[in-house]
Amino acid sequence: MWERDNDVCMEKITIQGKSGDSRILVGESLPALSRHIPAKGVFIITDKNVVGYYHSEFPDFPVYVVEPGEKSKDFEVMTKIWHWLLEKDADRSSFIVGIGGGVVCDLAGFVASTFMRGIPFGFVATSLLAQVDASVGGKNGVNLGGYKNIIGTFTQPEFVICDTSMLKTLPDDEFRNGMAEVIKHALIKDADKFNFLKKKRNAILKREREAINHIVNQSVKIKATIVQADELERGERRVLNFGHTWGHAVEKENKIPHGQAVSIGMAFAAGLSKHLGYLKEKDYNDILVLLHEYGLPLNSELDKDQVFDTLLRDKKKEKDKMNFVLLKTIGDAFVKEMDTSVIKNFALTF
Ligand code: ADP
Ligand code: ZN
Repeated sequence: MWERDNDVCMEKITIQGKSGDSRILVGESLPALSRHIPAKGVFIITDKNVVGYYHSEFPDFPVYVVEPGEKSKDFEVMTKIWHWLLEKDADRSSFIVGIGGGVVCDLAGFVASTFMRGIPFGFVATSLLAQVDASVGGKNGVNLGGYKNIIGTFTQPEFVICDTSMLKTLPDDEFRNGMAEVIKHALIKDADKFNFLKKKRNAILKREREAINHIVNQSVKIKATIVQADELERGERRVLNFGHTWGHAVEKENKIPHGQAVSIGMAFAAGLSKHLGYLKEKDYNDILVLLHEYGLPLNSELDKDQVFDTLLRDKKKEKDKMNFVLLKTIGDAFVKEMDTSVIKNFALTF
């Protein structure tokens, strides 16, 4: 499924999706983007921060710049971009490129997959979160009425360039957010990766290219393998939700960044796994130490009753039972259907 490219230090990972193949190019660079796109009819979507740092490296095509942040994943922004495309004479032969973090990739993917019933698109993923998570898997979408990603499609980009050198300019907080998903991948599928994260913490936090390329590569492979097996999220893909059930509820209550909420959610799910007799005490402690060493939170001050209510509200359809992702050990996650009362009782001690 993966092959090495000889001329550059780049790794290519191919996902065969229903809507076509998607190539994920880890270590490819923004200046090489023009090798992957048509010679004309290209439209670029990006945000203010990314264009501020990297405009000189963009290929020479029209650029639509959105405000940075989640609030841009909105129908008003979307509508403006559709209008812009029409004004610029975009048509069915056009090609969209999103250059940015998860927000830009989500927006660009949704615009492209709806405009004229869908035109091809690709991404240059510029944040760690986008490189290891948002851009892999072909999900896109916008928010509506307070619900995240409630309107969207499953459509694969033709390519995702993960230019790891661009992570140099990423703010520390954003870097840590991405690390939460990287740690998640290690916890659900890859004990070696967990050890690498432990051993190479300094190099990773200093964003040394070799260490970063390694962790992005591993994460993309893990996510790609899971997504490949379950593109439409019916079965195995649910292990990717590790830390996200409790995490989303915390995120909703507290409005903290996604990565921080996921970190709290992973500490919760690991604690529940230990409580139910699956995860060893030592593994549990190792997990907490690693999260902490990467500057991620383990708990929040929120009232646990309230967080639990929010969690239940999100899962309207499953009142008494719910699927929860637990760990057997580091590197081995599984989905378990549980009584919500078990989760609630544990929550009150957490
Ligand atoms: P995500 O964390 O899902 O990728 P965003 O797309 O909102 O979410 O990106 C997070 C923030 O990081 C945004 O403010 C964005 O402008 C900024 N950003 C993304 N990539 C870079 C980069 N390479 N250098 C500096 N800032 C970046
Ligand atoms: Zn996530």
